[in-house]
Amino acid sequence: MKNKAVLFDRDDTLIVNIPYNGDPQKVKLLPDAKKACHALAQAGYLLILVTNQSAVGRGLISKDQVGQVNSKVEQHLGLSFDGIYCCFDAPNNPVQGCRKPSPVMIQQAARDHEIDLGSSIFIGDKESDIQAGHRAGCRTALITHPHSPPPSPLADYVSSSLWEICLWILDAI
Ligand SMILES: [Mg+2]
Repeated sequence: MKNKAVLFDRDDTLIVNIPYNGDPQKVKLLPDAKKACHALAQAGYLLILVTNQSAVGRGLISKDQVGQVNSKVEQHLGLSFDGIYCCFDAPNNPVQGCRKPSPVMIQQAARDHEIDLGSSIFIGDKESDIQAGHRAGCRTALITHPHSPPPSPLADYVSSSLWEICLWILDAI
C-alpha cells in the first residue's frame, strides 16, 4: 500500500519568514507547528518539506546554509522530515526547473517515498503553493496571515490556524 503524506511549505507555514535567511539561529516556529507535525506523524502521515529557496540562486546564501536552517527547523520541531525538497532557482533563472508553482518537487517526493498524492495534502501560505499541490493531485490547505491576499479559489481549505488545518486533515472538525 502506498503512503499518505502531508507536504509543507516552510516559510510562513512552519516558521516565521525572514527573507533569504541563511542563519539557523534566527529560525522561529510558528504557533502550532510542533503540535500539528507530531499529530500528523502520529496519524501515519509522512512529513515532507517542499521549499523554494531562491536566495541560493540569487547568490545570497549557500545550499549548506539552507541545510542548516532546515536542520534547525527539525530540531525545534523535535522530529525529522521524511523528505526535504528544495528548489534553489531564482525566479528568472530556472536551473533546476522545480520552483513552485511547478509540481516537480512534489512528484519527486511521491516517487522517492511511494506516496499516494490523492490521499495527501499540501499546506502552504502562497498561491504558488496551492497551485503546486493542486497540479500534483494533492488536496491543498492555505494558511493565511493578517496581510495575506484573498485566498486562492483552488485551496480546499483555508485557515489562519495550522492547528485547524491539522484537524481538518485528521477529519476531526
Ligand atoms: Mg511560504
